[in-house]
Amino acid sequence: VKIRKPFLIANWKMHKTLGEAESFCRDFLPRVKDGGRVDIAICPPFTCLFHVKSFLASSPVKLGAQNMFWEEKGAYTGEVSPVMLVDAGCELVIIGHSERRIILGETDAMINCKVKAALQYGLLPVLCVGETLKERQEKKAKEVVRKQLQEALEGVEKTENLVIAYEPVWAIGSGLNASPEDAEEIASFIRGLLADWWDREISSRLRILYGGSVKPENISLFMQKENIDGALVGGASLDPYSFAEIVRLSV
Ligand code: PEP
Repeated sequence: VKIRKPFLIANWKMHKTLGEAESFCRDFLPRVKDGGRVDIAICPPFTCLFHVKSFLASSPVKLGAQNMFWEEKGAYTGEVSPVMLVDAGCELVIIGHSERRIILGETDAMINCKVKAALQYGLLPVLCVGETLKERQEKKAKEVVRKQLQEALEGVEKTENLVIAYEPVWAIGSGLNASPEDAEEIASFIRGLLADWWDREISSRLRILYGGSVKPENISLFMQKENIDGALVGGASLDPYSFAEIVRLSV
């Protein structure tokens, strides 16, 4: 029996207008009334945050953002601050998603600033790490994940307010999920690192999620693994019925 409560997070990426977000909420929320056994969050694009929050008021579902800047305010055209996310009703924020690392050039140093800012302003950081296909083929997955984690957490005091998502880049949006065994191997490696760097007690309480082509057909295989406590779901979270099914099958 796991001591950690499952956590299922929807990452909508750059999808859904206000109307589409509203229609998702109308279909999804009645299917996840019981918030006792699992934590659920939806991370819409910035433009939908406040609107989605208005539907979540009487539900156990939390609101999250997909990214943020690390300063509170200022001359940073196009950026959104942690204070603005809290103001819009967010409780969590995805940080260091591989699409931001690879397409937008986010570095480990930037990710480190974001993790610190999230903690400072009371947002739960969902820190994403994961290797590319080439790195996996070269047997460097652990080395890459260790470096990403180490740099993202540089100077971060030990805390329970952190979720780690292990997302192998080659498994994201590809339909090719990692095997539950490979995902468990890295999740357990991550928990071990956190036990070494912080302590065993905290590490045993942190939630480590898997992400990469999670769907209703494979979620329970991941949830059976000792060190996997939930999932960050992209494609399959866009459909309210699939995401509700993933939530249902995760407990
Ligand atoms: C993601 O965006 O974090 C993700 C895991 O996407 P997908 O589920 O589509 O692979």
